[in-house]
Amino acid sequence: MVSRVNGRPARLPRGVTARTFARAVREFSRIVGDAHVSVSPAELVPYAHDVIMVPPIWPSAVVRPGSVQEVGRIARAANALRIPLWPLSTGKNIAYGRMMAVDPGNVVVDLGRMNRILEVNDKLAYAVVEPGVTYAQLYKHLRDHNLPLWLDPPATAPGAGPLGNTVERGVGYTPYGEHFLFSCGMEVVLPDGRVLRTGSGALPGSRTWHIFKWGYGPYLDGLFTASNYGIVTKLGIWLMPEPPAYQPILMTTPQEEDIVAIMDFLRPLKITHTLPSAVVVAHALLALAAEAEYPWALTGGIKPVPEAWVRTEARRRMLGIWNIAGCVYGSPTVVAEVAETVRRKARTELPQATILDIEEARQSPYWDHKVRNMTGVPSMVEYSRLSWRGGGNAFVAPVVPLFGEEARKHMEIARPIFWKHGFDYIGEFIAASRDQHHVMMLLHKQPDEMAQAMRCYGELTDAFCDGGYLPYRTNVAFMEHTMRRLDPVFQDVCAQIKRALDPNGIIAPGKNGIRANRVSASRRRRVAATGTPASRRARPRAAR
Ligand code: ADP
Repeated sequence: MVSRVNGRPARLPRGVTARTFARAVREFSRIVGDAHVSVSPAELVPYAHDVIMVPPIWPSAVVRPGSVQEVGRIARAANALRIPLWPLSTGKNIAYGRMMAVDPGNVVVDLGRMNRILEVNDKLAYAVVEPGVTYAQLYKHLRDHNLPLWLDPPATAPGAGPLGNTVERGVGYTPYGEHFLFSCGMEVVLPDGRVLRTGSGALPGSRTWHIFKWGYGPYLDGLFTASNYGIVTKLGIWLMPEPPAYQPILMTTPQEEDIVAIMDFLRPLKITHTLPSAVVVAHALLALAAEAEYPWALTGGIKPVPEAWVRTEARRRMLGIWNIAGCVYGSPTVVAEVAETVRRKARTELPQATILDIEEARQSPYWDHKVRNMTGVPSMVEYSRLSWRGGGNAFVAPVVPLFGEEARKHMEIARPIFWKHGFDYIGEFIAASRDQHHVMMLLHKQPDEMAQAMRCYGELTDAFCDGGYLPYRTNVAFMEHTMRRLDPVFQDVCAQIKRALDPNGIIAPGKNGIRANRVSASRRRRVAATGTPASRRARPRAAR
């Protein structure tokens, strides 16, 4: 639906009249100033497009608040007028939908102007950031102030930020790689405009907001991750003290079937924290996608890339079929001893592996990038792989128990589906703690292969869920689909919390498949059977 606001076209939120919408835009302008509200299609383009499998999803407007007070006032105005808001922080969300909302017509709340680093405590090793702070910005701040603290950036984007990444439960590669685990204390604007401080921050004048996670009473922080219950405006993140020494352990193996031995080799090292970094085990094609041209001439663009090409190109770049990167940290003597223990174990349990010389390996962009990832330095190398096969990219990221046989089985599920749809399997296993994230890139050509990519993503998601493997995060296009795969009680509880906090469904409707008016199939059946009146449930005006 397209209307005109102030003489300019805008897509309206569902169920909202042009008049109400115009009023909302005026209200938002009063709150943040005219310069920070726009309904202009030209300005909305980046918020509407991603290079995933779905056509653009146009928002109705963008509003850019500069303070938590303004965010609160926006939420109150939106609630009064029933305008859905889609908050974002640094807006990268690469291969998961970038800045796109689930529904068309949302007003994007772009928090990029709120980009202050509010505190860095070098003694207690934490920082407090606003939503617009990027990894690159925080990295520069630490270097400029000579602070011996490390970040934990994700692989693809220095322009992404710790707050947005953490609320999506993103991961990195240092020992602080589970970002939510290493966050502490949030400030959240609730849908009714109130400001909640979580954990220890609930005590007025608290002196432990960002150092003691649990506070008193229920731990609420998790509610504001991978959900749509509020707008997070501050976050404490713990930073890793720069260790006196570190030593990367970089290895390659020559055969695909090695994956079983590799993951079994890694399991005890991860569970005992002998290797405290995330350990990435990447298929050659994943590294090649960032460094080599797609061989259109060989494949005609429709078949998987030939194995002989993969082997030749990998060899030229110091890559094996599997490429293993982990890291040991600590005092020089401890590091030397632990690294030698790991290498010795590798020589026994993975005799087919080649242990790379670190200095030599760092001449290769891929290995240098991996070492940067594991030592807190933002790096762009993997970014280029996103456009390898013509621009389209989407992550598929199920979580798998940390067993070699599970990894093999998982590839057996995944690869035929990629191939059936005419795409390459481009994957890596990231050994986290007791699990491995099997992260795969669905790289496709835009726009020709979008529909096919959509089918492939859906089939992969279902195949993994059928096998008992849940994705840790999905593309916006598959949030509803994935939520519907979960237990009905879980779905109902998510919707009940939504109704309690956001009865009008104002914040990010449909995000992670959560809607205020959502009723699971089993609940509908129960209601039908028991005659529990539907009127007992809060009923938002529009389907949100
Ligand atoms: P990054 O740039 O680090 O990838 P984004 O800013 O793109 O992070 O955020 C990723 C997603 O997380 C957004 O699409 C949005 O759904 C959610 N999100 C981001 N920031 C907030 C926030 N401050 N409050 C609530 N949800 C947020």
